[in-house]
Amino acid sequence: GNKNINAKLVLLGDVGAGKSSLVLRFVKGQFVEFQESTIGAAFFSQTLAVNDATVKFEIWDTAGQERYHSLAPMYYRGAAAAIIVYDITNQASASFERAKKWVQELQAQGNPNMVMALAGNKADLLDARKVTAEASTLDAQVYAQENGLFFMETSAKTASNVNDIFYEIAKRLPRV
Ligand code: GDP
Ligand code: MG
Repeated sequence: GNKNINAKLVLLGDVGAGKSSLVLRFVKGQFVEFQESTIGAAFFSQTLAVNDATVKFEIWDTAGQERYHSLAPMYYRGAAAAIIVYDITNQASASFERAKKWVQELQAQGNPNMVMALAGNKADLLDARKVTAEASTLDAQVYAQENGLFFMETSAKTASNVNDIFYEIAKRLPRV
C-alpha cells in the first residue's frame, strides 16, 4: 500500500549558494532576486507524492556562515537526507570546496544511511561561466559518484531540476 514517510532534510552549503532560494522555489514556487540571508536556520515543510509513498519533508535551511557552524549538527543529526548546495558561477570554486567540506562532515558525523544530493545551483547563469564550465561539471559528477551522492545542476530562478532533486531524494529514502 501507500506509505507515509516523514523525512528530515537539511540544506548545507556556502553563503549565497542558493539554499534558501531552492527551498522557496520548492515550497512556494517563488523566486526573489534579493533573497535575505538566513539567520541561524529556517524550517519549512512540503509533501511530495512518489509512486509508492507520500513523503513529508521537514526541511532545515541553514545559514552557511562559519560563525553558525557549531549549530550545524543540530540540523543534520537524525536527518534522512541532505542537499549540499554550491554556486556553479563562484570564481575559484570556493563554493564547491565548501560543499566538499560539508560532505566530509556528514560522512564522518551524519546518519550513515543519509541520502545525499549535490546541487550545482544557478544553472541559469551557465553562459556566464568560463571555458572551464564543462570540466567543473564533470568534476562535480565524478566527485558525487565517488562519494555516494547524486548530482544535479539546479536553478532556483528558472525552477530547473528543483522538484526533481527532491523527487529523486524521495525515491531513494529507505522504505521502512
Ligand atoms: P543561501 O545563502 O545559500 O541561502 O543563498 P540565497 O538563496 O539567499 O541566494 C543568494 C543569492 O543568489 C540571492 O540573491 C538569490 O536571488 C540568488 N540565487 C539563488 N539561486 C539562484 C539561481 O538559481 N539563479 C540565479 N541567477 N540566482 C540565484
Ligand atoms: Mg539562506
